[in-house]
Amino acid sequence: MNATKTIDTTGIDIEKIRADFPLLSRKVNGKPLVYFDNGATAQKPNRVIEALNHYYRFDNANIHRGVHTLSREITLAYENARNTVRKHLNAANPYEIVFTKGTTDSINLVASSFAKKYISRGDEVIVSVMEHHSNILPWQQVCEERGAILKAIPINEAGELVMEEYYRLLSPKTKIVAVAHVSNTLGTINPVKEIIAAAHAKNIPVLLDGAQAVPHIKVDVQELDCDFYCFSAHKVFGPTGVGILYGKEKWLNAMPPYQVGGGTIKTVSFEKTEYADLPLKFEAGTPDISGGIGLAAALDYVNEIGLDAITEYEHGLLQYATTEIKKLKDVKIIGTAKEKAGVLSFAVEGIHPFDIGTLLDQLGVAVRTGHHCTQPLVAFYCIPGTVRVSFAFYNTKEEINIFIEGLEKAIRMLK
Ligand code: PLP
Repeated sequence: MNATKTIDTTGIDIEKIRADFPLLSRKVNGKPLVYFDNGATAQKPNRVIEALNHYYRFDNANIHRGVHTLSREITLAYENARNTVRKHLNAANPYEIVFTKGTTDSINLVASSFAKKYISRGDEVIVSVMEHHSNILPWQQVCEERGAILKAIPINEAGELVMEEYYRLLSPKTKIVAVAHVSNTLGTINPVKEIIAAAHAKNIPVLLDGAQAVPHIKVDVQELDCDFYCFSAHKVFGPTGVGILYGKEKWLNAMPPYQVGGGTIKTVSFEKTEYADLPLKFEAGTPDISGGIGLAAALDYVNEIGLDAITEYEHGLLQYATTEIKKLKDVKIIGTAKEKAGVLSFAVEGIHPFDIGTLLDQLGVAVRTGHHCTQPLVAFYCIPGTVRVSFAFYNTKEEINIFIEGLEKAIRMLK
């Protein structure tokens, strides 16, 4: 499509940016693609595609184990990628950055390993009603295994955490708090600093699920003072199958390995195994090497555009889309928190979200429909699910116009 610079007051060169993403020029059902499913996964810039390509053409070797040139070169590149992630999150040390398969894997790692050491019968774990299943099920499972209790912070109608209830839930039995930084269904930016401060006042660690935050806002783990932070590369313009767990050194050192095997050890004998130092203790087996390098390329790309500009630009898109959608009859926005990032979810009275998604697809508009892996949340709103529009910095006001026209048409047809 012909993107223009009409809404750009942030210094974002939208034409140049769109040209960096080859998939954005694809047609879908004969129409120019309008990609509004960035919350599920984001498209990849040439920079990332080329980094993956280059790795397999010129650099492929295994890391951390070879003395030959290729192995040494790629080990260095992989560790440089780790340091790029460290800088991006402003972590104090590169060894506090663990490469995983993604957010889900990172949370499973913490839940499983942390629980083995710190959670026992009668203890409590706090999550919230708005969590993605990936930040519920690992905790639910370890609570069941260890006889602990999973508690959920309630939300209000706007989709904000009820903080007084959270403060009430914190108790000497609470062993960890795990909440989303940004909700994938509502777009709510949670007051994570307050959440962390209240937990820390009682010596309780906090894990933040940053899957929907890292693509949209600056994250500084030292400023937040969170104990764990997780995100997925593929939602921040990097490859699938790779993600990050940040953990404070003191916790990662204290926790037992999650999966074990090659790469995680110092010495092995049948009598006794001594595990490696951080971060290798948590990185069993050959990792997604090209994925780590691709993630670093994605973060470099994002940083060249600048996260402040991205946040402001996307805020403009969200405001515009919100204003336009409010003009339509029978549309109810789900998630009206004061602080929001990148997501507009809605329900249309009397119409199933799937039907809207299917008709929009005919017009080349890709949105997400359903429960978005947040069934307790959609149950709270007593709806089968929502239609979710989720933005990236390559989206435009013109695309929002196409979507709104399409939605109007879909409602007319389905009513
Ligand atoms: N947490 C949140 C808030 C998410 O939005 C998602 C994915 O949509 C996940 C966790 C799971 O991410 P992944 O599937 O990349 O592990």
